[in-house]
Amino acid sequence: MHTREEIQSKLRTIMERIDAVCKRTDKKTTLVAVSKTKPVEMIQWAHEAGCRNFGENYAQEFRDKTAELSDVTDLRWHFIGSLQRNKVRYVVGKAVLIHSVGTVSLLDAIQSRAARADIVQDILVEVNLAGEPSKSGLSEAELPSMLAQFADRPNVRCLGLMTMPPFFADPEASRPYFVRLRELRDDLRPRFGGNVDLTHLSMGMTADFEVAIEEGATLIRVGTAIFGPRGT
Ligand SMILES: *Cc1c(COP(=O)(O)O)cnc(C)c1O
Repeated sequence: MHTREEIQSKLRTIMERIDAVCKRTDKKTTLVAVSKTKPVEMIQWAHEAGCRNFGENYAQEFRDKTAELSDVTDLRWHFIGSLQRNKVRYVVGKAVLIHSVGTVSLLDAIQSRAARADIVQDILVEVNLAGEPSKSGLSEAELPSMLAQFADRPNVRCLGLMTMPPFFADPEASRPYFVRLRELRDDLRPRFGGNVDLTHLSMGMTADFEVAIEEGATLIRVGTAIFGPRGT
């Protein structure tokens, strides 16, 4: 079990490591603290210590935690997990950013929910660079046609790309995937406009966030290094 002091000290350590890489590389990034499966009090402790962006993976858990912490008005919630179309209503309008959109059918469900609420939902398109069957996200080849779908869907806006490389013990092994996502973003950026604005790269987790920042991550998603291991 983690105490308030432990969580806050781990968070400070991560923030210092992020600052150090950003200074060295002259880059900026936003830490999204991944709080999935962790109790709301841990989120409150991290918030007290200066964290404002939190990432959740499961739609019901997202719904419950955002409701429970609705009086904390400066929290920014990110949805980073796989999202079923029938649970889109728990997330649309509550997440500042949905990182994990990899199919047109999910995009459609978000579009129609956002249209009903008369809002524009910001999202990232998830790319499965290694083609791992266990992971969601579309292939590189499918990316241009996915981005073209936004043109007639005015209630969604694409702010960039997200990826989750295969797990490696050595963070350097993730680097080629981060480079590839950045290259894709740079290639596709001038080809799209309107509600497709490929600014953001969401990449890097506990094991490899420093490498991700070096390669241009504007959002890093860190769970274990802040909140401890899950499911123990
Ligand atoms: C759980 C999760 C993370 C955080 O992983 P850690 O290794 O605990 O930092 C990041 N991104 C996604 C999509 C996740 O599901």
